[in-house]
Amino acid sequence: MSTQHAPDGHLTSIPTTILGGGLAGLAFAYFANLAGEKVKLLEAAPFLGGNGRTLRFGEALIDTGAHRLHDRNPVATEAFRRLLGPALRRVEAPSQIIWRGRGIDFPLKPLNAAIRMGPKELARVLAENIIPNRGAIPKTFEELAVLRYGPTLARQFLLNYSEKLWGRRADELDPKVAGGRLSGLTLGSVLRELLLGARATTRHLDGAFYYPTRGFGMLVDALVDHIGEECLQTDAPVTRIAHDGRRVLSVDVLGECQQVCGDVVSTIPLPRLVELLDPPPEESIRRAARSLSYRHLRLCIVRLDQDTVSRSASLYFPEKSIPFTRLYEPKNRSSEMAPVGSTAIVLEIPCSDQEEWWMMSDKNFETGVLRALPATGLELGPIIGVHSVRLSNAYPIMDLNAGPTAARLLEYVDLFDNLRLGGRAGTFRYLHTHDLFADAYEWATDRADSGTSRSSTFPSYPVFCSS
Ligand SMILES: Cc1cc2nc3c(=O)[nH]c(=O)nc-3n(C[C@H](O)[C@H](O)[C@H](O)COP(=O)(O)OP(=O)(O)OC[C@H]3O[C@@H](n4cnc5c(N)ncnc54)[C@H](O)[C@@H]3O)c2cc1C
Repeated sequence: MSTQHAPDGHLTSIPTTILGGGLAGLAFAYFANLAGEKVKLLEAAPFLGGNGRTLRFGEALIDTGAHRLHDRNPVATEAFRRLLGPALRRVEAPSQIIWRGRGIDFPLKPLNAAIRMGPKELARVLAENIIPNRGAIPKTFEELAVLRYGPTLARQFLLNYSEKLWGRRADELDPKVAGGRLSGLTLGSVLRELLLGARATTRHLDGAFYYPTRGFGMLVDALVDHIGEECLQTDAPVTRIAHDGRRVLSVDVLGECQQVCGDVVSTIPLPRLVELLDPPPEESIRRAARSLSYRHLRLCIVRLDQDTVSRSASLYFPEKSIPFTRLYEPKNRSSEMAPVGSTAIVLEIPCSDQEEWWMMSDKNFETGVLRALPATGLELGPIIGVHSVRLSNAYPIMDLNAGPTAARLLEYVDLFDNLRLGGRAGTFRYLHTHDLFADAYEWATDRADSGTSRSSTFPSYPVFCSS
């Protein structure tokens, strides 16, 4: 960490350079700012917010994919409250799985799903799960899903969906892609479902959440207002990161060298960071970085001349014959997302660099998605407009190679005294917004405690430290 003393002996704040202006970069800038530090944030795109923005099409507001704020970390929730004030609302809107045109509870309730599949499948699911096999330690996501739910439920709902989302076979995926959410089919869960029916809610991330009245992007706007636009530089792609093996010395932005005098927080994709280092790391590190990949997302936005399509926060589509994994209707998060009498649906199509869905023209993409819509069984009114948006590096692909490889790269980056990683693509971890805020807060408090930032104690959030 870098410190500097002013002529009067006081510690001065040294600008921190933040690479990337998505929610992670902005969260780091926000907490640094609260601690009285100056930051300089460099963002390659002409806009801030990365993959967490709100866009306008005609009169409809849509988020870049189905976003909501989870009340999972007290510091993050408090920050959301402070930043958004009364615009932050609590929303109750459960989600559903659509399978062969039938609605099934989300998250997956095994008995509900098996009953909706029909009597033959119900019998098979019960037979498969009659003798639980809880002792085994699953090595792949496929093993985990089959162990928890048996092959029938696992294949129809979990493996197909995950293979579509991640673009890998389920036996190539790390069990971590489940995010700890597969509680499984047990005698207890069956009894609970039998006794409580629709109220038998598994603990899950959906159902109740926080959401800003005019879209997730309000969080980005509030962060920008707080940090100050003078600290945030857009259209500023970092093209080289010079170092001496121990510290980052400077960064090039479009060929112009900018000296680094303090810490650097990188939230740009981890393999890109490694690629930009000058001198380059040894070949094995570069090879490791090249072996990591991300899943992109292409969104198809369909604006409709009807008041509403469904009441669900999100609809999930596990079937492989349907190209999208998820549909969300912004209006079900906040009525301000579209005027009365019209709505929009947003369809998420996961893809990778060389895949047809990623490369095809907007027109072909939109036609292809519209062609798949009747298979959802949803009743859709006249279409007002169709649009498409590409989101790069939306999900780090957690295949079996990724965990150890990312760990190796993180260990390598740790050799630099003044370089800290953050963000989903930046740390190659499947993080949510509350995680990004929690991480940035921890970083800022550590700096305050060690005297690196202007404040000797972190000013605004001490109340929450103990929780
Ligand atoms: C579809 C979808 C749904 C989600 N839903 C939720 C949700 O419901 N709840 C939740 O909490 N979270 C959700 N998230 C996660 C949340 O949006 C992410 O955590 C967040 O977008 C990741 O932020 P980030 O800043 O780490 O990365 P990014 O948003 O990817 O930002 C990285 C930034 O770095 C910039 N960059 C890259 N290279 C360079 C360079 N060389 N120089 C300068 N800048 C560079 C990029 O342009 C980008 O702006 C969702 C994410 C997606 C994609």
